[in-house]
Amino acid sequence: MSISAFGNASPKELLAPMTVDRRPVGATDVQIDILYCGVCHSDVHQARNEWKNTLYPCVPGHEIVGTVVAVGNKVTKYQVDDIVGVGCLVDSCRTCEACKDDEEQFCSNGAVFTYNGPDKHLGGHTFGGYSTGVVVDEEFVLKVRHTDNLAAVAPLLCAGITTYSPLRRWGVGPGKRVGVIGLGGLGHMAVKLASAMGAEVILFTTSPSKVDDAKRLGASDVLLSTDEEQMKKAKGGFDFILDTVSAKHDVNPYLGLLGRHGTMVLVGVPEDPLSVAAFSIIFGAKNFAGSLIGGIKETQEMLDFCAEHQITSDVEMIEMGQVNEAYERLLKSDVKYRFVVDMKSMKS
Ligand code: NAP
Ligand code: ZN
Ligand code: ZN
Repeated sequence: MSISAFGNASPKELLAPMTVDRRPVGATDVQIDILYCGVCHSDVHQARNEWKNTLYPCVPGHEIVGTVVAVGNKVTKYQVDDIVGVGCLVDSCRTCEACKDDEEQFCSNGAVFTYNGPDKHLGGHTFGGYSTGVVVDEEFVLKVRHTDNLAAVAPLLCAGITTYSPLRRWGVGPGKRVGVIGLGGLGHMAVKLASAMGAEVILFTTSPSKVDDAKRLGASDVLLSTDEEQMKKAKGGFDFILDTVSAKHDVNPYLGLLGRHGTMVLVGVPEDPLSVAAFSIIFGAKNFAGSLIGGIKETQEMLDFCAEHQITSDVEMIEMGQVNEAYERLLKSDVKYRFVVDMKSMKS
């Protein structure tokens, strides 16, 4: 079936209306009418081919919340009218070690990402949530238990899980001193989640205008990383630091703030390589690690945790036609704190 979407045909083009095909609903498939889709910085990297792997036409969007409008005859978990989510993954082999360990994002036979992945059904590549509808196997569909503010739930499907997963893996909780670098889509979720887990959270930002918000979101202290004096006086001994920065930056001052055996995890994906000085990590036997979204089981766990703790994203609603402008604002760190497209704007 042909549906309305928004995407671009080359890195230099702005995103514009287009149509894409969705497969017919198979036995284990769920057809979803998309209500909201968040705008992740990865959408910008991908649409502009900053990671040098984009397949065109490119239809981004992997923070999807919608309504089930049809289900295949073998679907057991969902029914028509359910409110559901789809994140960054729509399929994987389901048999390799990673899939068996509920880490489908690391499927050794190739995870199928919501956009720019191989489309096993129609050939070509997958198209994301900047569209009116999507068809996804029920195993990759998430239950949304939030009952209101569904637009603000959409960003949990990427920004939420990408920050939740490393916070859990590295045991963030009461008694832990946690740093978050960057208060954008991912960063603001990290501040909310880490403080809900009971940790002491300190935010590092380049934007003076975000200091008060960071405290409102749960940070006990905020340091302006552009102010050398503040950085010099920063108290070290961090157990864990999450780096969400989307552009090139110096990681060494942050590694210096880690305590003995402390860990800094990179989730931001700058276009250019970062450089790490040996002395930043050898004294104190520090760890510098990475993390990629989270598996389906953990994504459901995160959504349930957020529903229980009444956590959603702080969003700025836009119409689909405003997405190019939203990309420019993202590049200026000018969003509080996630743009979400109201998909009604594509239907009228
Ligand atoms: P975002 O909303 O644009 O936030 C990024 C934040 O980084 C900005 O708000 C800004 O915070 C800070 N920043 C930007 N440029 C900077 C610079 N030159 N120097 C220092 N700080 C800077 O982006 P996002 O959607 O949160 O995504 C962040 C990154 O994570 C992107 O690279 C994205 O592709 C990646 N990502 C990774 C995964 C994964 O699984 N690993 C998943 C999703 C996204 P302040 O204004 O507070 O300084
Ligand atoms: Zn994302
Ligand atoms: Zn697999």
